[in-house]
Order: sequence, then structure tokens, then C-alpha cells
Amino acid sequence: MGVDLVPPKVCTYDCVYCQVGKTTKKTLRRKEYVPTAEVLEEVRDFLLTGDPSIDHFSLSGSGEPTLHSQIGSIIQGVKAMSPIPVAVLTNGSLLHFERVRGDLRHADIVLPSLDAVSREVFVRINRPHRGISVEKVIEGLVEFRKVYQGQIWLEILFCKGINDTEDELLQMKRAIDRIEPDRIHINTVIRPPTEPWAAALNSGEMERIQGFFGEKASIISEFDRHPLFVSKIDVKEKIIRILERRPLSFVDLSERMALSKKELEATMQPMVKEGKIKTRRFGDSVYYEVSKS
Ligand code: SF4
Repeated sequence: MGVDLVPPKVCTYDCVYCQVGKTTKKTLRRKEYVPTAEVLEEVRDFLLTGDPSIDHFSLSGSGEPTLHSQIGSIIQGVKAMSPIPVAVLTNGSLLHFERVRGDLRHADIVLPSLDAVSREVFVRINRPHRGISVEKVIEGLVEFRKVYQGQIWLEILFCKGINDTEDELLQMKRAIDRIEPDRIHINTVIRPPTEPWAAALNSGEMERIQGFFGEKASIISEFDRHPLFVSKIDVKEKIIRILERRPLSFVDLSERMALSKKELEATMQPMVKEGKIKTRRFGDSVYYEVSKS
């Protein structure tokens, strides 16, 4: 289950492959973007009425969750309510701040991303806030590993022709050796990206990279850094809220909504006619997204 800590689209990066869309507020300012009490109330509500079989809570957001100044209290609050493990999906850009490392220390799993290690590639793929350097990001991850007792699953997303060169891979391996993650998740562009030119690697290329990184590495087929959590709203509003965060195929949407194909079709057809949502083709699939006009 995903818990959103920042609204779309507040982030320290503006990644070319981002599925949430272009960053509208690129910032390093930590604050209580969503009231902490409201987040904990939603989790409490979910525990009383939601699916009891979830395997973990994912703290994420339509942006960077460590920008939420109370993320430490939220992690502790969620853990006090339930034994379900808490995972944090972060781009890792703020881990060079001791306070942020302290905030995340109570999480069971931290999944930081690291898509590049050279300055040029970092700027090209992640388009970071000017106050962030890739050296700081790597140092933050190395320091975090020294103090953090939980699992670190490092996530790397590959875009063709940007961060998949031999040189970048070699440098990345050296950085990973210093970070010592428990697992390495590799992925590529499988959902409509912010920039249409951000292209995916093919399966042969991904397997080659997996082999290069060794036994800790696995290819993640369903890249989902932005799990969704919506409650207390009607079906059409839910669809809009979900599609505002990222485009989804009909099948994905039907799974998210826990609705049959027939029910979903009946709900969506009028929404398409009214111009509230529209379709967009990416690769071989058709995705639904919110009409911006
Ligand atoms: S992919 Fe994550 S880190 Fe990159 S811009 Fe989107 S929300 Fe931010």
C-alpha cells in the first residue's frame, strides 16, 4: 500500500523518464507538505477497513518523500500502529543531510535510486536541483549504509544512450561497491515518460547489465516508484486521482480499482466522451491519462 507524502509534482529532480510528469516545484525545502495527522489518520482508516494482506506500507509520493519534514515521525507512527513493514522509496538526493538519515533509520526497507554517477550523465537524466551534486548523493548513500541496520535496495533505471555506456556502468559498479546495498533493482522505461525521447533498453541489454552487476542484481519488470493510495472518494474521482499521478493501461487501472472490466468500461466511457480523460499510445500499449485542457 502506498502513502503519498508530497503532492504532484514536488521533487528535487526532474527525471527525463518520470512517469508522474514534469516537476512543477523543484526544491530542497523540507516542510510538512501533507499534514502528518492526516497521513496517520488515513493509515489508521486503511488498517480498519482495507486489505489486511498487504505485505508492506510504501512511503512515496508524486515526487520526493524525504522532502516531507516529518517523515521520521510518520514512519514511527505507522510502525506503532501495525507490525507491517515500512518501506521508503526515495531518490536519495537528501541523504547527505544527517537529519534525513536519522529520519529514515526506523524504516524496514529503503529503496534509493541512483541512475548515474558521472556529473554529466546525472544532470542529463535526473535534471537535479542546482544545489545537488552526484558526489553528495553518493556520499549520502555511503554514510547511510554505515548507520542503517535495515535493507537497502538500490534502484537504477536505464535510458537508452544516456546512462548505459560502458564507462558509466564501470563507474556505477565502483560506487555500488562503496554503498553495499542488499539488492540492486534494475529497470528501464516501461511507462510513458515525461520526455518522449527517453527510450527503453531491450531485454538482451538489460540481461547483460544484470550479469555485469552480479548476483545482487535483478531486473524489475513492474517499475512502481509511486504506489497509489486513495480513499473516501467516489469511483470517478478515484480514477482521476490515480491518472493524475501517472498514465495507466486499462488492465493496470482495473487492478488498481479492483473493478471488473465491464464495470470499469461503463465508468470510463462517459469520462472519455466528456473529455475528462484521454488515451495515449506508448510502444504497443494504450494508456489512459487526464486531459489537461
Ligand atoms: S522519477 Fe522520482 S525522483 Fe525522478 S522526477 Fe519523478 S518523482 Fe522525482
